Amino acid sequence: MAAVTDLWDRATEREEEIRADALAEARYRRERERSRPSAVECRVCGGRIPVKRRRAVPGVQTCVHCQEELEEGLL
Ligand SMILES: [Zn+2]
Repeated sequence: MAAVTDLWDRATEREEEIRADALAEARYRRERERSRPSAVECRVCGGRIPVKRRRAVPGVQTCVHCQEELEEGLL
């Protein structure tokens, strides 16, 4: 059964690598978003983004409405 255990170990290792990669990628993207200046206008609908939201969400590019739709996968 040694071979099977090895395979399992390797699969698990690979899975952890993929997860770590995805986490690093997400972190990198979040940091890049933050370093971007907040947009004055929503990049989706072109509406103004309230100053409060721009301060609260560094690097924000969309209004609350569009952000919600983006998160729900509607856009
Ligand atoms: Zn919008």
